[in-house]
Amino acid sequence: MKPHKWTGILLLAVFLFCFAFSSSPAPTACQPATSVAADQKQDKSEETVYITNTGKKYHRDGCRFLSKSKIAIKRKDAEAKGYEACKVCKP
Ligand SMILES: [Zn+2]
Repeated sequence: MKPHKWTGILLLAVFLFCFAFSSSPAPTACQPATSVAADQKQDKSEETVYITNTGKKYHRDGCRFLSKSKIAIKRKDAEAKGYEACKVCKP
């Protein structure tokens, strides 16, 4: 009897099994959560917000008011120009 031979085959089987089920392609699944956490850490005045050609508010990326125009600007610059925070997206 050579028990080592069977141990090797068993390990190989386990390895192949794990390899087959560990190839799920989801590397970007947690991106929104990490960006929210980063926003809370960094200095708010240096955050990039977005203004429109017509509005008097600044917005977060993805706000529905940015559908017509979207101009990236630093929060402190937007406030210096008289823009106010949007009440919908709360940047
Ligand atoms: Zn908004």
